Amino acid sequence: MSTTPLLADTLVVGAGWSGLIASLKLAQAGKRVVLLEARKRIGGRAFTHSWNDATPLEDNSRNATNEPVHAVDFGCSWIHGYNEGNPVKELAQRYGVKVHVPKSTPSQIIGPHGPLAADLAAKLQANLSAAQSAATSQARTSAGRLSKGDGQATDPSLASFLLAPASPLFTGLETSEEKHLAIALARSLHIPLGTSLEQIALTWTGFEDNFAGTDGAPEGGFSRLINLVAKELTSLGVEIRTGHVVEQITNSLAQQQQQQQQQQQCVEVSAKDEEGKGKDVVYTAKSALVTIPLAVLKETHGNLFKPKLPARKQDIIDRVNVGNLNKVLLTYETPWWPLETGTFFVLPTSSSSPSASPSLADTFRETTLIVSSLCAPHGLPGSTNSLLVMVGAQAAKDIEQYTRLEVAEALHDYLYARLKNPSDTTQPKLRHTFYSRWGQQPFTRGATTTPVVIGDPSNSPLDFEELSRPVWDGRLSFAGEACDLNHRGSVAGAVLSGERAAKSILKVLSKL
Ligand SMILES: Cc1cc2nc3c(=O)[nH]c(=O)nc-3n(C[C@H](O)[C@H](O)[C@H](O)COP(=O)(O)OP(=O)(O)OC[C@H]3O[C@@H](n4cnc5c(N)ncnc54)[C@H](O)[C@@H]3O)c2cc1C
Repeated sequence: MSTTPLLADTLVVGAGWSGLIASLKLAQAGKRVVLLEARKRIGGRAFTHSWNDATPLEDNSRNATNEPVHAVDFGCSWIHGYNEGNPVKELAQRYGVKVHVPKSTPSQIIGPHGPLAADLAAKLQANLSAAQSAATSQARTSAGRLSKGDGQATDPSLASFLLAPASPLFTGLETSEEKHLAIALARSLHIPLGTSLEQIALTWTGFEDNFAGTDGAPEGGFSRLINLVAKELTSLGVEIRTGHVVEQITNSLAQQQQQQQQQQQCVEVSAKDEEGKGKDVVYTAKSALVTIPLAVLKETHGNLFKPKLPARKQDIIDRVNVGNLNKVLLTYETPWWPLETGTFFVLPTSSSSPSASPSLADTFRETTLIVSSLCAPHGLPGSTNSLLVMVGAQAAKDIEQYTRLEVAEALHDYLYARLKNPSDTTQPKLRHTFYSRWGQQPFTRGATTTPVVIGDPSNSPLDFEELSRPVWDGRLSFAGEACDLNHRGSVAGAVLSGERAAKSILKVLSKL
């Protein structure tokens, strides 16, 4: 094991958006920062896959080494609320990265028997939007928890309101078939939510005041923006050490006090290099910032912090929910789906209750998928003959057991049967494919935190605020998408929490 002398003002753990932005703010204030990242790459849940037309189907590389032509984000892809105050707009401008706002393209709802008529599809979409607004206003005006009449209270779920017979979801729908279609479309919400409507707490629906309105896509993908931040960090003297898995963070001050030694203000961080397979390295600094994703902290916090975190913080780490969302890219020589359509909402063909270990075909048949056509006339650069499929909640978890090619082939068969023109008999061949498995990634273990879930009366949006609070007299701070009350689950949340943590660390450092 090698121990380095007191080497930094702040050790930042994790080089995703929050860790990078906190490091930038600290370095700009003249502080010595060392950034430890477990993976060999930086960016965390910002990751852009690139490939070119010569990339063979069998090639599983994350990035084309020569002449990447196409780029698709498998983590964050949109700057939500680009014109409504999202701080990432300023970052993109600072680094000269063009951001494109897509032109609106038509969407289609694909029912069990084919595309729905435009007027029915429009009605279902308008009803869903009205039902969501009604859920938010119900949450804002009701007393919250419902009495069961036996002196106990129960948490209503979003599903209990949205899918109730009196819900605006069903306004003007005559037949039970139309009502089933409305429910299936409402289940597309499990993709942005990362979990089922049955799990989300109605009480806190719409509580977040997040950036919304215009969506913008940075040209070249989010990894490009991340690399430009890292370049600036390096120029400011920040050391970025990739492949360093942090295994323990010790409050050495507390230990020294216990041993009645001379007080030194330091935090000790032990890491294993070569992505956790190499040698132990110990760093010491005046302060540390942890940006490890919440799902990873859930598994590790018991052994990671010495002494353990306060019981309240541990309880919140255990309680706050992390959801599932994965993307699958299917690329073809020529597109075989309707060219003018930008987004397909592919509703399930089967409503049997999910089995414990469903086949891939069953998984796709039983879930609502959102499928984007990357060659639709949306006016974005980098058009490619590809479909990008979003799979959410339990289905996103289920597909992670399968290989990239197994998922791609099963999804191709399923979507070809659902989206093709009935007269098409060409049997198109897949040319390239890629998918994310955020749940299996040891340094992510899920997509992002979800809105507040039911099940524990203590759950509330304040948990996200509490997760951001520093401990150890301010020398151990926390940032990341889980640490922002209004913007959790987004790049904006990660960036804002990183900025806030840097500010509070600077205050603490000024007093040492
Ligand atoms: C599929 C998907 C789509 C999304 N789409 C959008 C979108 O369109 N718009 C949007 O705003 N947001 C989106 N998000 C959310 C957004 O990507 C995240 O909120 C944001 O990137 C999180 O940044 P972070 O710094 O909190 O965490 P991360 O980016 O996960 O960074 C944490 C870092 O810590 C590292 N780490 C973990 N354990 C250790 C350890 N022991 N030692 C050292 N390092 C460690 C990880 O490797 C990682 O690099 C999406 C997320 C997903 C998964």
